[in-house]
Amino acid sequence: MEALEEDVTNAADRFEAAATTAALHTLTDLKTKPSDRADRDELTKNYTQRMARKGTPGKDEYDKIKSATPFGRCPLCGHRDVETIDHQLPKKAYPLLAVVPANLVPACRSCNTVKGESEPKIAEDQTLHPYFDDIGKEQWLFATVHEVAPAFLEFFIVPPPAWDNVLTKRALGHFHKFGLASLYGSQAAQEMSGLRHILKRKVPSTVGEYLRDEAMGLAEASPNLWRTAMYQALAENSWYVDGGFAID
Ligand SMILES: [Zn+2]
Repeated sequence: MEALEEDVTNAADRFEAAATTAALHTLTDLKTKPSDRADRDELTKNYTQRMARKGTPGKDEYDKIKSATPFGRCPLCGHRDVETIDHQLPKKAYPLLAVVPANLVPACRSCNTVKGESEPKIAEDQTLHPYFDDIGKEQWLFATVHEVAPAFLEFFIVPPPAWDNVLTKRALGHFHKFGLASLYGSQAAQEMSGLRHILKRKVPSTVGEYLRDEAMGLAEASPNLWRTAMYQALAENSWYVDGGFAID
C-alpha cells in the first residue's frame, strides 16, 4: 500500500503540471497503473466508500470541495447548483487520481452526467478546469438579440485577445459539450418573459437606462454570467429598447 501511496503522489504532481498546460491527454500511461485489479478497486473504493459516503472520515473533505465555489454554483455550467463532484480525468480509467484533490471538481448532476467517462484526446479537448483555468476576469460571454415576436437571445463566446488558440478551442469545446448556448438561451427566455411586464410599466424613455444599470451591476459582480450578457445585449439593442420587449 505504501508503494501505491507514492504512485498516487507522483500522479497528483503530474496531474497538476499537466492541467496547467492543457496536457492532460499526455497522462494516458497512468491508465495502466496500478496493474493489479485489487489495487485499482481499492483506489476507486477509497473515493466511493471513504469520501463520498456520509459518516466516513473523508466526507468532510468531500463536502469542503463541494462548497468551494461561489454561491454553490456549478463551475462547469456557471448556472446550476453544485450537487456532486466530477473527476476531471475519470476515476475508473485513472484510479491513481480517484482521490487527488486537483482532479475533483464540484459540479451539478447534469454536467457530471454529460462529462461521464470522457477524457481529452488532444489539448483542445480539455474542458475548462475552475482551479487551473482562471478565465473569469475578462468578458468572453456575449449574446445577440433576435428581433422576432417574442424576442429571444443567442449566446456565444468572443475570445479575449489574451487567449491563445488552444484556450479558445478549449472554451468553445466546453461551451458546446455542456450545451451552454441552449441552457442560457432558455434561462434568458424565461427571465425575459417576466422582464416584459416590468418594462411595460416603465416610462418608455427610461427603459434603456434601466437595462444598462442592470447590465453594469451584473458585470461588476461577474462579467461572464448569462444574465450579464443578457442585459448588455438587451440594453444595446435599440429595437428591443424602443418597444420590441413588449411584443409577444
Ligand atoms: Zn453544471
